[in-house]
Amino acid sequence: MKNISESPFFYNELFINGKWVKPKKMYDVFNPFNYEKIGEAPFATKENVEQAISAAHNCFKSYRKSTPQYRSQLLKNWSKLCLEHKDELAKMITLEQGKTLEDAKGEIDYGLSFVDWFADEAKRIYGHNIQSDRPDQIIDVILEPVGVVGAITPWNFPFAMVTRKIAPALAVGCTVVLKASEETPYIAYALAHLAKQAGFDDGAINIVTGDPAEIGQILCSDVRVRKISFTGSTRVGKILAAQSAEHIQKLSLELGGNAPFIVFESADMEEALKGALYLKQRNGSQSCVCGNRFFIHDSIYDQFVEEFSNRFSKQKSGNGFDCDSDYGPLINQTARDRVLGLIESSVKEGAKIVCGGKASYNSCIEPTVLSEVQSDMTIAKEEIFGPVAPFYRFKTEEEVVEMANDTPYGLASYFYSKDFSQVMRVKNELKSGMMGINETVIAKPQIPFGGVKESGIGKEGSFYGIHDYLDVKCTITKYEL
Ligand code: NAD
Repeated sequence: MKNISESPFFYNELFINGKWVKPKKMYDVFNPFNYEKIGEAPFATKENVEQAISAAHNCFKSYRKSTPQYRSQLLKNWSKLCLEHKDELAKMITLEQGKTLEDAKGEIDYGLSFVDWFADEAKRIYGHNIQSDRPDQIIDVILEPVGVVGAITPWNFPFAMVTRKIAPALAVGCTVVLKASEETPYIAYALAHLAKQAGFDDGAINIVTGDPAEIGQILCSDVRVRKISFTGSTRVGKILAAQSAEHIQKLSLELGGNAPFIVFESADMEEALKGALYLKQRNGSQSCVCGNRFFIHDSIYDQFVEEFSNRFSKQKSGNGFDCDSDYGPLINQTARDRVLGLIESSVKEGAKIVCGGKASYNSCIEPTVLSEVQSDMTIAKEEIFGPVAPFYRFKTEEEVVEMANDTPYGLASYFYSKDFSQVMRVKNELKSGMMGINETVIAKPQIPFGGVKESGIGKEGSFYGIHDYLDVKCTITKYEL
């Protein structure tokens, strides 16, 4: 597929109140692999965004009163339709985002696991009763949907980040205005089309793309929007946190990470190598929970770096549609220049390139391994978001825990050790919202996904994730005995 219009799920109008709305303006969308234009996408005006908020607000009045069974069934219909068209949807993701078809299919499975999970959770929202200190009084705690949700999603998982936000919101009776990423708009509009087919009420889901700063500002300044749910960079998260203060909107922020990946002396080397490779290859390392700093114990450092480099250097970055590509290109030229700049600054600051270090084609970056990296280098402080693995040495547990925690981020962390007491100590000392211990697969619908520190607030997935879309209302009722 070369042009997005070849897809049966191609839509290039705004989705407002269950209808396709022709925009006044369009913008160009490019294939990250060859930089060719793949189509045009709608650019919303201020009025369009306000129409979307009004539609969500009006729909909320009735949708909030619908039964959990009704909402659960709609989510199940939606998931079934997406699954039926998985191959076509995956092609859209590969064309606009660049990841391999295999990764795109994996993303769809992952994204739908949230729709399925929240379809079940919709029926399990329980309030509770608290005993009063008076016999003539009943205290009930009721959970209610927060209202209209303003959701903003990134390009790196353009399908799953949308479903991970929209599904819990719709499950509890909220309605949504989604601003999808401008780099990857088409899969979001395809999801809107399938949601309409699934039977969702007009106005329950509204999708716009356009000027991110303007749309963010409108969502935050409109008092009818009661929650902002954002996934993206910490920089933008801070802007939204400040803007949402105006009306004290409920806030969920899934932001950037700088995950440590620690391999202790006692670790199962093969398991740790497999884990590190998995993290670096998946989605071309453009993932917020990707290993970003690899700390290896001094006694196994040389062996580990050599073996990792042997394996990683065999991987190929290329066209996501080619079967022999292990991972795709970076999202655009800016991302490519930033990653190449980080490699260059590391070398200038004293690191060594073990393999890779260049772009093989356009934004396709060779698998790159840097050794002898130090914690005061520029790369140690940045989220790399590319196939570059920097290796740091450590000698003691205390030293590595301090280095690992020396970052404003706290999204994910990983460590490998077979020493039980060490596992317990390090587990308690590392500061992050999620932790893989002898494990790297940490994102599943039953897991509360989210960070601490500047990696964000709130959770997505799990029991905790659905509660982020609920208000707690306490009623105190006096009655005659
Ligand atoms: P980004 O912050 O640049 O963009 C994210 C979204 O915000 C996009 O839709 C963008 O258009 C929009 N945006 C940009 N400026 C805005 C503004 N002023 N107001 C409102 N919206 C605005 O991030 P990105 O480059 O698209 O994505 C990569 C980042 O996302 C990385 O930092 C990554 O770690 C993070 N991320 C986090 C998670 C998580 O769950 N914690 C998951 C995926 C990605």
